[in-house]
Amino acid sequence: MSLSPWRIHGDNAKTGPRREPRSRDIEPAPDRARCRPALAGYREIVTFDLTPTVAQHDLVTRVHEFAQDRIRPVAAHYDRTQEFPWPVLEEAAERGFYSPLFYRDLIGDRTGLSLPMFMEELFWGCAGIGLAIVMPALALSAIGQAATPEQMLRWAPECFGTPGDLKLAALAISEPEGGSDVRNLRTRAVRDGGDWVIDGHKMWIGNGGIADVHVVNAVVDSRLGHRGQALFVIPGGTPGLELVRKLDKLGCRASHTAELKFDQVRVPNDHLLGGPEKLEHRLARAHASAQDGRGDSATMGTFAQTRPMVAAQALGIARAALEYMTDYANRREAFGAPIIDHQGIGFPIADLATRIDAARLLTWRASWMAANGVPFERGEGSMAKLAASEVAVQTTERAIQTMGGWGYITDHPVEKWYRDAKLYTIFEGTSEIQRIVISGALGAAGGKPPMHFGLEPSGGPLNKMFGRGTEIRTRAATAALKMKDHVPEPVRKAAMKVLRPPR
Ligand SMILES: Cc1cc2nc3c(=O)[nH]c(=O)nc-3n(C[C@H](O)[C@H](O)[C@H](O)COP(=O)(O)OP(=O)(O)OC[C@H]3O[C@@H](n4cnc5c(N)ncnc54)[C@H](O)[C@@H]3O)c2cc1C
Repeated sequence: MSLSPWRIHGDNAKTGPRREPRSRDIEPAPDRARCRPALAGYREIVTFDLTPTVAQHDLVTRVHEFAQDRIRPVAAHYDRTQEFPWPVLEEAAERGFYSPLFYRDLIGDRTGLSLPMFMEELFWGCAGIGLAIVMPALALSAIGQAATPEQMLRWAPECFGTPGDLKLAALAISEPEGGSDVRNLRTRAVRDGGDWVIDGHKMWIGNGGIADVHVVNAVVDSRLGHRGQALFVIPGGTPGLELVRKLDKLGCRASHTAELKFDQVRVPNDHLLGGPEKLEHRLARAHASAQDGRGDSATMGTFAQTRPMVAAQALGIARAALEYMTDYANRREAFGAPIIDHQGIGFPIADLATRIDAARLLTWRASWMAANGVPFERGEGSMAKLAASEVAVQTTERAIQTMGGWGYITDHPVEKWYRDAKLYTIFEGTSEIQRIVISGALGAAGGKPPMHFGLEPSGGPLNKMFGRGTEIRTRAATAALKMKDHVPEPVRKAAMKVLRPPR
């Protein structure tokens, strides 16, 4: 079972040659989707389409209702108290939003839009509660990246549990000495007979120490940089796994974030994701490679695949702030007019609305690419995350400014959204790291034109000859214009029908 079609790309230019998709990557296309041949080596691709399907429309409506009726009313409480929002998780599970099969469904949607639509709506409610709800999906994504099918079947249900018996999962990568530079992680795993023994220290771990499943990366061969790391499952309660402290955060305070220590944590060999043979093969390949520190690794792949997901979360916060400040600026009057009529207020709102829509388009494109196996060869996943997180900070900051003193106090949610949004330029790759990925990808692409130049065009030979913008059509149109006053109208209409461009 593959929960993750995202597995086949890296968000950089080092993705290597395009490969033939395995049969499980190609699932039956949705009824409405128009499929066509795409990249060389790919059998079909679902056309990018901004119209939501009926199911997507229904999903958005249901999640929005949940966010509005169940999340927003309690968001300030959990923000203030930093309690874990168990009752909201329970309700999410009852509504079907907290299960591995739900995510499998969303990720399997080849239009690519279901997952970002879900994320945006949920995080429109509250990013802290949203993170608490989706944290297992981040761990699941790493499992999907690295695990054998048997391991996937074993651990995926353990990440979520069932309504009435909820479980939690954590993805533990970052360490106190470095989050961005994953090559320098120090947590180590050493083979001891049929077990692995893990020692180390992790920082800022969502659900850390309270999770039933911790997916932890550790160095197994220190000579190989991030290619010498492997992912392990450490169940909650394993001796030696210590929750050092729950972290007191600026924003997203409903989510639990912790510092962890691993002191001689012992797990059986089958907790190594992917299994020992795959690891040995990967290490041998890395040793043989001249490009030390480059190429594939489970950890790097996980970051690549979660970026559009995280971008959509930031968009949820940005949109919430945009709507709120627009409504306020319409009602608040100063100097005899609603403040939105003052260009100092209205123009920044217009700019932000434009940037939010641009970021959404980038996010949907990245998500569509991921769902269809189109590699991020120009850093498209990072572009989405960078644009969405930056616009979330800009919009929430502007919302405070727009509301003046009211924006600065806790009577309104905008100061909270500002605190929440700031996380998005930091975690899952800081803005600087996204810029490094994008510029690196562009550099490797060597000034090649944008992605659509490399896609196999849709349409048949007739479209090539007579489609819009073709030379023949332009000539025919020019001739028709010249003759228009000399041809009877019925003939002109019939000619226009014939000239309709073929697909
Ligand atoms: C609330 C929260 C939740 C988190 N959840 C998780 C989680 O669940 N699991 C997990 O594993 N991690 C998690 N993280 C960790 C997060 O991913 C890291 O904080 C992040 O990757 C940055 O790492 P760092 O904090 O060590 O900063 P550093 O890597 O030390 O960076 C510090 C600054 O230097 C900049 N910088 C670094 N290298 C370069 C460079 N080459 N060029 C230019 N600038 C550079 C960075 O952009 C940043 O501005 C979380 C963090 C927070 C705050």
